[in-house]
Order: sequence, then C-alpha cells, then structure tokens
Amino acid sequence: MTATVPALADIHCHLSFPEFDADRDQVIERLREAGVELLVDPGTCAESSRRSIALAGRYDFIFANVGLHPHEVTGPLSAEMYGELETLARAEKVVGIGEIGLDYHWPDHHPEAQREAFREMLRMAARLDLPVVIHCRDAWPDTLRILSEERTSALRGAMHCFSGDLDLARRCIALGLKLSIPGVVTYKKSILPEVVANVSLDDLLSETDAPYLAPVPMRGKRNEPAFVAHTVQKIADLRPESFEEVTEAIFSNAKRLFNIA
Ligand SMILES: [Zn+2]
Ligand SMILES: [Zn+2]
Repeated sequence: MTATVPALADIHCHLSFPEFDADRDQVIERLREAGVELLVDPGTCAESSRRSIALAGRYDFIFANVGLHPHEVTGPLSAEMYGELETLARAEKVVGIGEIGLDYHWPDHHPEAQREAFREMLRMAARLDLPVVIHCRDAWPDTLRILSEERTSALRGAMHCFSGDLDLARRCIALGLKLSIPGVVTYKKSILPEVVANVSLDDLLSETDAPYLAPVPMRGKRNEPAFVAHTVQKIADLRPESFEEVTEAIFSNAKRLFNIA
C-alpha cells in the first residue's frame, strides 16, 4: 500500500507571472502530483490581478487575490484606479485582497504614498468583507500601526511570507491575522522555526511566493508550487502534532480563511 499524499495549500504563489509562461502546464502537473489542492494567485496591480483572475478561471483549485503591491505605488493613485481594482475584486474566484502592504527595503520607495494605498486597500477589503494578504518588508512599526488604526471587526487575513520574530508573530495574531510561512523556514539562519514551534497550529498557513524563495533542497532555483511540500514538511518537523494533523490543519486553515468550500 502506498502512503496517500496529504492535501497541501499554497496560499501565495505568482503562477500567473511570466516566469511560468514557458512551462505552466508542467508546473501544474507537478503541483498536482505533490498534492497541492488549493492555490491562491495574488495580484500586484490591476493588470496582474486580471491575469490572476484569468488563471483562476481555468482551474477549479486556483483562486485569485486582487492587490496593489507597495512596489507598484510610486505616487498617489487616482480614484479611477481604485475603482478599477474594486471592480476586479468583485469578480468570480476572487477570495481576498492582496498583496497589499508596505515595503521600505529599496532606497527609492515612496513611504507616504505606500501608506495611503495600504489604507485604501484595507478599507476596500472591509467594504467587500474579504480577507487581506499583507506584504511587509522592513516596515513593521508602520504596518502594525496602520492595521490597528484601520482595524474593523471584519479584519482577517494573512501576513504573507511572514518574516518576523515571535513577538511580531503574536502581535499579528492579536490583530486577527494568520502567519503564512514561506520556504525561508527551511534556511539555516531563519528565525521562523522558533515562531512555528511556539504559536497555535490554527494560526499557520503555507506558501511558496513562487517564483521567489525556493525552500531547501531547491534553494537558488526558480520556486514552484510543488515545492510547498518541503515547507509543510519542515513545519511538521517543528511541531509537537503528527504530520497528518499538521497538514490537515494548515489545509483547513487556508480553506476557512478564504471561505473556500
Ligand atoms: Zn510579497
Ligand atoms: Zn508575492
């Protein structure tokens, strides 16, 4: 008897990006073999959100997020642009608003405009009653401050590619957010193992953020959704629960967050 492959979720994967144009069908074949039964493709602007929605329209198990990545925010956005994003967010198969957030990593970023866009997108998610998928890089104080200021009773979502320590993890959880664990958890110097071992299983999700950040033993290659299996295995190794309990919990956390039957 062969062991059954557990159902896996990749809640943040840019499968609609051009990096997969040449071999998307094979990538999808491999992710199915690896047991990925739920994949969420996030948007980074209106154009990329449209591509996410189009891809989700072709596969039962793929869902889309409509988002505005902080890298795309180089100044104030027009009301028309927000209107376009909100129209897209009402499309079928859209299960969340993301990715949105703050990124102060690169020297030429626009912090004021990023903060304004982040607030606008959080308000859009509240109006549409959708979960949010948040990108935060080198911007923890402002991200947490804006989240608490904009918080409504409907706020729920995920810190995608979570990169903080245990204290930041607990603060995100207190705001109603889950921690989406990337392949980084498999890296030698990662601080994520301590986080994964010390929060509740209910607060964990899994993602690849493909084509970026491939987990060990694929580190350095183009990442792809099938590799989420390595990340989930690492999470299970760090947890007191059995492998089956961990994989089942992470999969159902993803379904519940995005309201997928
Ligand atoms: Zn991101
Ligand atoms: Zn991303």
